[in-house]
Amino acid sequence: MQIDKMMDRIEDKYVILDQYFGYAQFREGQEELIDSIMSGNDAFGIMPTGAGKSMCFQIPALMLPGVTLVISPLISLMKDQVRALNEAGVHAAFFNSSLSSVQYLKALELAKQGKYKIIYVAPERLLLDNFIEFAKCVDISMISVDEAHCVSQWGQDFRPSYLKIMEFVDRLDNRPIISAFTATATKAVMEDVISVLHLNHPKVVATGFDRNNLFYSVKNPSDKMAEVENYVKENSDKSGIIYCATRKSVEEVCLNLQRDGYPVTRYHAGLSDNERRQNQDDFIYDVKPIMVATNAFGMGIDKSNVRYVIHYNMPKDIESYYQEAGRAGRDGEESECMLLYAPKDVRLNEFFIESNRDNEELDSETLELIIARDRERLKIMTFYCNTNECLRDYILRYFGEYGSNFCGKCSNCLTEFETTDITDIAQTIVGCVEASRQRYGMTVVIDTVHGANNIKVRQYKMDQNEYYGKLEHIPIFRLRQVMNFLMLNGYLFLTNDEYAILRLTGKSHEIHELTMKVAKERETSSKSGSKNSTKKSKKLEDMGDINFELFEALRALRMEIAREEHMPPYIIFSDKSLKDMCIKLPMNTEEFLGVSGVGQNKCDKYGEKFIKVIQLKA
Ligand code: ADP
Ligand code: ZN
Repeated sequence: MQIDKMMDRIEDKYVILDQYFGYAQFREGQEELIDSIMSGNDAFGIMPTGAGKSMCFQIPALMLPGVTLVISPLISLMKDQVRALNEAGVHAAFFNSSLSSVQYLKALELAKQGKYKIIYVAPERLLLDNFIEFAKCVDISMISVDEAHCVSQWGQDFRPSYLKIMEFVDRLDNRPIISAFTATATKAVMEDVISVLHLNHPKVVATGFDRNNLFYSVKNPSDKMAEVENYVKENSDKSGIIYCATRKSVEEVCLNLQRDGYPVTRYHAGLSDNERRQNQDDFIYDVKPIMVATNAFGMGIDKSNVRYVIHYNMPKDIESYYQEAGRAGRDGEESECMLLYAPKDVRLNEFFIESNRDNEELDSETLELIIARDRERLKIMTFYCNTNECLRDYILRYFGEYGSNFCGKCSNCLTEFETTDITDIAQTIVGCVEASRQRYGMTVVIDTVHGANNIKVRQYKMDQNEYYGKLEHIPIFRLRQVMNFLMLNGYLFLTNDEYAILRLTGKSHEIHELTMKVAKERETSSKSGSKNSTKKSKKLEDMGDINFELFEALRALRMEIAREEHMPPYIIFSDKSLKDMCIKLPMNTEEFLGVSGVGQNKCDKYGEKFIKVIQLKA
């Protein structure tokens, strides 16, 4: 009997995967988490964006006897997921502040009657009287915490409201299974999540951080705006996000692209709620498929067909970069993440870190700790922009994984480098640091060896330093590169305090013969040192044998349906499903069910329309 039941369940999860979601196989990590949850254990899934975390709690939710509550930080995310579930034929609802109180009470009533198997709820709601009352009168099988890193003070998006989750659980008569999911977790955050959420011997599944459909690049253009315009021009049929560090640059970049006639919109904290909502919708519905935004935009944006994410400025740390860039290619299709770096970005971020001092909620000790940590993170981010090593590897190593040192799919792996001797430059820089008794930061040291004649150099009397002007003939960008190389490899150390001072390390005097990889083309490029500027732009969209005309026709049909139903196009079908249709060319509903991402409900709803277009165009 027991075994029979287990066999049933094993069948169940495949049936659900196929019937509701239209997929034939589980992806890495999914089955393990689902099985563990189904045997009554807590679970913690750490999987990159697009890996398919939702399935890990949605499928158990459909198999468990009671209701599953999904705690999610953002309204837009909930709305999206609930819509997608309903499209797939699953009864789901959300409770958050976007509902009027009449709507909320009505939904609560329906929930009490058992109408919904899955309920998304904002953490702020959990402790409200009427929600507790509801929770006590239904059978809650599981609580799933999405974006679980929000419970950790060490994470980059700590949300105090997430701390209500435990209090809520404590007030229930029976403790449900708790499952938690996140895409970003360093070791410290991971341990924090387990302890703060009181996960009980959870099954931890970490599938690795690599997003192999993403192409990473770093550029150093002298004219960022021109770089962006050029990219958008070459990719004008695609949807993308351009992140800027300030509202002002959002406005500028957006205006420029608008003038060029591109369908672009914008998002930042300075806009009214209404406008933000409108712009976000325009983007999600592909009315304006290009979004220029500050980092206020994006958490909880589930748009799966974002083909590129450009960072107009360097973000504050690798976590943020990985998360923001990771909004590209959620559907698993090839996408590009480009970072436009300028040394100015470092100073801007330093300024942001310093302005954290005004935070009155934290005691001074914690504040100092956080500021020091932020500086360290910024340093590592800056190294990313200056490294000549594989970019993917760099990111993976940051999260504690090891790559292959060569991914073949980042701008560094595709750049031809040559090895150059930097012994003399390195010794001179170290010598200058030592001779000035380790009192100054990078700029002063570089200016000194380069022989600059500016106020700071004169004020600190560095023009009398024995190393003054010794590297006059070496361009500044090369000096910066070598400086970064020395710090990256432990020959010099930059302090984490406000002044960011260069210090010697145990290795500083070990420089006898030192070489560094530099991009070949840079030797001949102009003074601006535009990194990788001559690199061939990689052809991303590999349409292979796909009938492009058919694909466009299916896309148009999807858009038409989306407009009619007021639904984002990607919720109807992903680009991946459309491509699969172009490959499989289904001619009847049975064949249509075989397309990846087509479950029973969507087949019934849309099958005929799509088949008609395929019959016509194929
Ligand atoms: P995450 O929450 O981890 O970022 P999602 O749950 O949004 O990822 O899933 C990303 C995409 O992958 C979605 O389009 C989803 O339908 C798809 N997906 C999930 N599981 C599978 C699977 N087993 N086979 C194929 N596609 C899947
Ligand atoms: Zn690489």
